[in-house]
Amino acid sequence: MQLILLGLPGAGKGTQAQVIAQRHGLLHISTGDMFREAVAAGTELGKQADSFMSRGDLVPDEVTIGMLLERVARPDAEAGFMLDGFPRTIVQAEALDLALEGRGAIDAVLYIEVPESDLMARLTGRWTCPECAAIYHELNSPPRAAGQCDNCGSTLTQRDDDRPQTVQARLDANRDWTEALAVYYGDAGKLTRIDGTGEPSAVTDRLLAALADVPVATGKA
Ligand code: ADP
Ligand code: ZN
Repeated sequence: MQLILLGLPGAGKGTQAQVIAQRHGLLHISTGDMFREAVAAGTELGKQADSFMSRGDLVPDEVTIGMLLERVARPDAEAGFMLDGFPRTIVQAEALDLALEGRGAIDAVLYIEVPESDLMARLTGRWTCPECAAIYHELNSPPRAAGQCDNCGSTLTQRDDDRPQTVQARLDANRDWTEALAVYYGDAGKLTRIDGTGEPSAVTDRLLAALADVPVATGKA
């Protein structure tokens, strides 16, 4: 299967992508992770992406599309993949469709929907460990001792992205393209809306149930 996961920041995309990819034997491809790895490794791609990412802008389509298409063309993507963070523009979606001609189209786009008031609560409640990268949440996975990492005892910090004053702006910046892509894939008959509220495991169950109904065009598992 060749899948795309859509959802606003905080909808649980990353977590669900990992679980679903594992259950279905799909390669999980996150363009955000790929860019962060490239920046950390200091590659040419990383240098190109860095200035855009640090300003909070999208990396230009040419760069992003090139990177993604090269990734899905590798052998480990042959058995199927799940895209997380791509496409983010209609140009990217069209380039992907074009590249998949002759290989098998996208089978389904799963849009994890959560009311924005819930997203605000989720996104401003996330705390991370600066030492070991453990992630906690005030709502559903608080550390045993407030403000302290269970693993290493370090004082937890809030990512800039998770501060209340930036969360609304983040939602605003993502709403339009997310909706535009929902329309694009809805028109193509590929969009399934998934209720993203409640326990993560309940959301996983809804996603798996939706996937059981997906007609697979690629002939791949
Ligand atoms: P966020 O941190 O907003 O959840 P990601 O982790 O998916 O976003 O991506 C981090 C950054 O990488 C984005 O802010 C953007 O600069 C860049 N990026 C990731 N995916 C794309 C894409 N499909 N198109 C353009 N830029 C992207
Ligand atoms: Zn820690």
